Amino acid sequence: MMDRRDFLASLGAATVASQVSLRASGAPALASGRITLLHTNDTHSRIEPFGPGNGAISGLGGVARRATLVKQLRQQLGSVLLLDAGDTFQGTPYFNRYKGRLDYQLMRMVGYDAGTLGNHDFDNGVGMLVEAMESMEQLKHANPAFPFVNCNFDCQGAPALGKRVRPFVVREFPGIRVGITGVGVAFAGLVAPKNHQGITWRDPYESLKPIVKRLRDVEKVDLVVVLSHLGYNLNGSAPDDLQMPGQVAGIDAIIGGHSHTFLEKPTKVPQANGETLIFQVGFGGVNLGRMDFAVTRGAVKAASGSSMPVEG
Ligand SMILES: [Zn+2]
Repeated sequence: MMDRRDFLASLGAATVASQVSLRASGAPALASGRITLLHTNDTHSRIEPFGPGNGAISGLGGVARRATLVKQLRQQLGSVLLLDAGDTFQGTPYFNRYKGRLDYQLMRMVGYDAGTLGNHDFDNGVGMLVEAMESMEQLKHANPAFPFVNCNFDCQGAPALGKRVRPFVVREFPGIRVGITGVGVAFAGLVAPKNHQGITWRDPYESLKPIVKRLRDVEKVDLVVVLSHLGYNLNGSAPDDLQMPGQVAGIDAIIGGHSHTFLEKPTKVPQANGETLIFQVGFGGVNLGRMDFAVTRGAVKAASGSSMPVEG
């Protein structure tokens, strides 16, 4: 029989052996990391800045200036994700002429990492939405084509869209793994039935629960981000961003859209595992949202954010 001293010695040997094998298999895992989420919502084909006569948003926005700002922040910060919460389509003659192809192509050129779908992205029907996605995929550009994430549109009856919309994606940075999923608003009253043919809307909270669990338990992410086109606060009449943390445990950040809500900084809502940051930055690309997260051993240690005007 092993005495206590021998037993402790054998434990020590096992620990050393496992450390050696970890190092042999690659770089040691970092215990902490940080990530900046940059985001837009409801850009609505606003490719150029708003002109004069638009009140407080006169002269703001524009895709070229957004690209410059994103590039500067990427160079400064390193670990950055650029995300969008939907309603890219509809709002200017650019959409009438190019049917969303230009909007998605420009998003790829700016360097988006993922986007989700809003109600207006169905304005020309599923076929035209898929065509716009295809034109973005086929663009010759150094940046990769970006994925669309959504977990509450059942696309079984629309396979061309279904194969382009993923329930989630995972992105890895030094010391931090980030899971990104998305949810969309109910079609009723917002999207004509012929424009969402083959797609069934499911309850966003119920759809999110198994995805967040999988991201945590199987994909082992440190941070869960939801791109939400539900709206910020619907006062209990329908699922919204403010209620989401109380309904679905384990979400760190909600990047919202649909309600065109101008927030100066993220709203922090307590939840089972800490807090959820909810943010939305108006519409039309007037602002770029920023949220910073520091993670140590899988737990969020610090989180903050701000809305940055996109100006010349
Ligand atoms: Zn919108």
